[in-house]
Amino acid sequence: TNKVLVIGGVAGGATFASQLRMLDDQAEIIVFEKDGTMSFANCGMPYYLGGFVKKREHLIAATPESFQKDKNIEVRIRHEVIRINRAEKTVTIKDHIKDESYVERYDKLVYSPGAVPMVPDIKHLDRGNCYSLRSFKDMLKLDEHITTKNYQSVCLVGGGFIGLEMAENMKARGIKVHLVQRSTHVLGLLEPQFSAKLEEELIKNDVDLHLSATVEQINEDRTLQLSDGTVIEADFLLLAVGIKPNKHLAESAGLTIGATGGVCVNEYMQTDDPDIYAIGDVIESFDFITGKPKQVPLAWVAHREAYVAARHITGDPVPFRGILGTAICKVFEKDAAIVGHHASSLQKMGVPFETAELTAKQHAGYYPGASELSLIVHFCPDTGKIYGAQAVGQGADKRIDVISTAITGNLSVLELQTLEIAYAPPFSAPKDPVNMIGYKAVKKMNTKK
Ligand code: FAD
Repeated sequence: TNKVLVIGGVAGGATFASQLRMLDDQAEIIVFEKDGTMSFANCGMPYYLGGFVKKREHLIAATPESFQKDKNIEVRIRHEVIRINRAEKTVTIKDHIKDESYVERYDKLVYSPGAVPMVPDIKHLDRGNCYSLRSFKDMLKLDEHITTKNYQSVCLVGGGFIGLEMAENMKARGIKVHLVQRSTHVLGLLEPQFSAKLEEELIKNDVDLHLSATVEQINEDRTLQLSDGTVIEADFLLLAVGIKPNKHLAESAGLTIGATGGVCVNEYMQTDDPDIYAIGDVIESFDFITGKPKQVPLAWVAHREAYVAARHITGDPVPFRGILGTAICKVFEKDAAIVGHHASSLQKMGVPFETAELTAKQHAGYYPGASELSLIVHFCPDTGKIYGAQAVGQGADKRIDVISTAITGNLSVLELQTLEIAYAPPFSAPKDPVNMIGYKAVKKMNTKK
């Protein structure tokens, strides 16, 4: 039998182990997780902190006991892999419970250690109460400190997905929110005019927004000095300026690291050592549309890669098809969803493209709750190939998921006209915004079809 060791027991690692067990009831599977909690929903942490998720246990999908009982998979928590010994096909593990180290042999090794939050360059960072949000421990600590230290205000450093989600959740907890974003707009993946809609929504909800600014230093009196000269007060800082692959074990084992900083893998998730697979936030994958290296640290990607690795290990391979970067974020009453490339990414690559854009109601205007939904699609004016799309407003999820499906199935922008989309007044219009984009695109095509 195969002995398969897994490094990391959350999104990628735990999913891989389960998938492997479904495909192979014989393999010996051991998962090593350095922290005390496996299989927790990272993505739910902002919503626990905001009080939308009432109990922390609701974020935990499985325990070592349930994995052992239901799947015959051994999970060793508080066991950290500290070295990969490729020549011997072993790993060295530090057992943090017994405070001792030992060695375990593998036939196949799966590496899913996630990513680590980046720390922004702020002078006198140690003067402030600074937090990041990656592990379950991080969440519990922040939750406890907000209560016990009676925090009333926060400075969110970074206006990406986590910063934006935390803005809403901290407001829901009654905390005053400053959000500091280095570039001119929040969520840099969005078209600027779409980011602006989220910014309006933040301001409407009383978030103090500081765009084109960074936190330069924490002053002696613990106020925050921003680069634009503003001084703000905040009881704590949440640092959410991005992440980097947690790749040090792979690096010291001599595995190849790609241009984007992630571990290189082939389309079956094998590193350049065929007995070592890597999945999740730690790897460099590739773009579905361009085939170029790409890193998308999101949960769908980790889950799919886990499946692809399990299929390869069991001798029934399916190749990974690449990443579109489909993503979504809720900012109070507005949703923002993305798939594929935005305009500036296409410009940077020198890809000629056309754009169709519209603003409509997300469902029949006469039905209660109708609000504005903006949709934009970039495509090739010769072939109609869809390069990317974005939507902001309620109902953004459905439109972007439909377009993501269309891209995956190689439908052209004109074929968006032909999609038969479910309609009743609370959901859509007889001609859905996705259909409308298809009709609009006709005028932008070089050849009429
Ligand atoms: P992780 O899930 O982080 O798991 C890695 C695990 O490996 C960790 O538990 C770590 O302790 C362990 N580990 C590391 N090194 C070792 C070692 N040497 N030995 C043993 N164990 C080790 N994605 C979405 O798609 N949608 C969302 O809404 C979303 N929201 C998010 C919100 C937050 C606050 C965060 C932090 C992430 C969010 N993500 C979201 C991203 C998503 O959670 C990640 O893409 C996903 O968890 C990646 O899976 P992974 O297995 O690579 O890493």
